Amino acid sequence: MDSHNASPFVPPHHDGEVINGREHHKLIIMGSGPAGLTAALYAARANLKPVILEGNVPGGQLTITTDVENYPGFEKGIMGPEMMEIFRRQAQRFGADCRFEFVDEVDLSQRPFKLKTDRGNLLSCDALIVATGASARLLNLESETFYMGYGVSACATCDGFFYRGKEVLVVGGGDTAMEEANYLTRFASKVTLIHRRDVFRASKIMVDRVLANPKVEVIYDANVVNVIGDHSPVKSMTGVVLRSTKTGETWEMKADGLFIAIGHKPNTEVFHGQLQTDTNGYLITKGKSTYTNVDGVFACGDVQDHVYRQAVSAAGSGCMAAIDAERWLEVQEHHNAGMSAVG
Ligand SMILES: Cc1cc2nc3c(=O)[nH]c(=O)nc-3n(C[C@H](O)[C@H](O)[C@H](O)COP(=O)(O)OP(=O)(O)OC[C@H]3O[C@@H](n4cnc5c(N)ncnc54)[C@H](O)[C@@H]3O)c2cc1C
Repeated sequence: MDSHNASPFVPPHHDGEVINGREHHKLIIMGSGPAGLTAALYAARANLKPVILEGNVPGGQLTITTDVENYPGFEKGIMGPEMMEIFRRQAQRFGADCRFEFVDEVDLSQRPFKLKTDRGNLLSCDALIVATGASARLLNLESETFYMGYGVSACATCDGFFYRGKEVLVVGGGDTAMEEANYLTRFASKVTLIHRRDVFRASKIMVDRVLANPKVEVIYDANVVNVIGDHSPVKSMTGVVLRSTKTGETWEMKADGLFIAIGHKPNTEVFHGQLQTDTNGYLITKGKSTYTNVDGVFACGDVQDHVYRQAVSAAGSGCMAAIDAERWLEVQEHHNAGMSAVG
């Protein structure tokens, strides 16, 4: 999959114009998490009239959490869904066109790029910003969803601070689980790592570090099969039910927090075979830019970042993608103007 310059000449279409049955826009942004909505803000202020296709999780991952205390500017913290509503309103104030549609097909083989949404709407664009994020893999328990943000978390960097002096559980057996378990010992009085097998997939050095940590205990051969909790005075988890993967025996364990650390899945299926990814499916961007291997397609946020995975880093790269797209479009327009003059 080599990088290609579909055609250096972009026909001078107008925003909203219907071309061959497709509504055309200069710039479309896929995704409405911190990356997509920051790109939308910058692009709207650059007068690019971006259309944002918000996808199946409008507002992105932060809409499934409660307090966000590490986003600069909100000194008292803010609820995740409320913060994302502010992001959206700020972008809309400058003309961003936010639509609740999920893109289920893309054709990036030539420009303008073609998209189809789950509502059957056909669109095309000169430039595309991909901000589709990465979803934390979860246990798929109803109780886990119910207590998400109320004791259950998928991000130790984000929520570890809330567990000072408390007892927490970490589920997983890979490097992420080891990293999170170690990190949480900075706050928690005790961290219990729960793994469904009796050997870890994580690298030896990470495992050794965790096993040497006096605050960490390990339960092997067990799955979390339920999260239990209280509703009064406030909703919060109080423990879990574990089931032995060897004997099937179940038992309850008390805990103040449960961190699911079984990996992330970048939302890149729709680009399969069209955009370059690493072995884990994350989009590859060039150097310090947001350029992908397809000219005119830019990627930002968690979909291209498996290292930092924070709202502020996603927002920062959303800003970069909008600036990259704006400059790229300007070069195309100059080129078009030159071609028209010659013609
Ligand atoms: C429980 C939890 C708590 C967290 N707490 C914090 C915190 O306190 N502080 C912090 O900094 N970070 C926190 N994070 C991490 C943070 O949420 C992410 O780093 C950030 O949301 C990434 O932003 P993003 O815009 O790249 O992607 P996301 O927020 O994942 O947004 C992806 C967007 O893409 C859309 N999408 C996906 N596929 C398509 C498609 N085919 N078509 C159109 N749209 C599509 C989705 O609908 C969604 O809007 C937390 C994460 C979790 C899971």
